[in-house]
Amino acid sequence: MRRIYSTNENLGAIDIELTNSHMGYSSLSILRNDFHNILIWKLESFGVAIQYAHVVTNIETKEPGQAVVHFQNGVQITADVPIGADGRIAACARRYVYDDNAHLYQGLINWIGVYESEAGYLEEIAVADYWGVGERFGIVPVTKHKAYWAGGVACADIGQRNPAEYKAELVSIFADWPQPVQMMIARTPVERINKIYVHDHDPIQTWHKHNLIVIGDAAHAPLPTSGQGSLPIA
Ligand SMILES: Cc1cc2nc3c(=O)[nH]c(=O)nc-3n(C[C@H](O)[C@H](O)[C@H](O)COP(=O)(O)OP(=O)(O)OC[C@H]3O[C@@H](n4cnc5c(N)ncnc54)[C@H](O)[C@@H]3O)c2cc1C
Repeated sequence: MRRIYSTNENLGAIDIELTNSHMGYSSLSILRNDFHNILIWKLESFGVAIQYAHVVTNIETKEPGQAVVHFQNGVQITADVPIGADGRIAACARRYVYDDNAHLYQGLINWIGVYESEAGYLEEIAVADYWGVGERFGIVPVTKHKAYWAGGVACADIGQRNPAEYKAELVSIFADWPQPVQMMIARTPVERINKIYVHDHDPIQTWHKHNLIVIGDAAHAPLPTSGQGSLPIA
């Protein structure tokens, strides 16, 4: 993983093979889409039927301490252990466990995108993390012709999101940045770019109530700048 200043000066590198050997397993860069497909394929191989278009509206407790999950379409379910994985924004499961699911804006915009092109290619499979002042651009190659990337900018207030403008916004902010950054922006179609006003929430001490547990971002949402992940709370 290379860290590079926005003017292309080298700031240093971390050998991911070394951290892999310390951890005892390899890290893997994968597109979320591909990861989802692997999970779906695995579930289907177990014969699990996935029910789409079920929006949770509320979770309540039925005596003696059993969570009942209500969906917008009128369905309601109970289970031995319901698992709430409804993310960092206003998660119903988090509200059930903690009574509060307020998400907090952290003064950071991230434009994220997927670059896929046979034309341009990345010279090495190495994460490149470009740093400016209050600005950052990270590129994570998956192959020499495919990468996901994120351009980040500190921004105090939440503003507009207009997908038609995303590319022009990036071109303007990262105009003088090194060539790989330019290549990502220029060669990513606008429909594969998203703009996120990044939120997290305060840590909570307990990740369950009665028989329902919260996992993932609903329990502990990392910022893309910190990667603090899910440290256990004593
Ligand atoms: C800008 C940004 C960049 C990131 N980059 C990386 C990265 O490079 N690598 C990495 O490992 N992590 C990254 N992360 C973190 C990573 O995206 C999250 O940790 C991860 O997606 C959490 O997965 P999750 O399943 O808990 O929540 P989510 O991925 O948020 O999934 C929650 C799901 O629940 C659904 N949902 C919400 N409410 C309801 C409801 N009421 N009823 C039914 N469904 C509902 C949502 O539609 C969504 O599909 C990034 C995060 C951000 C914000």
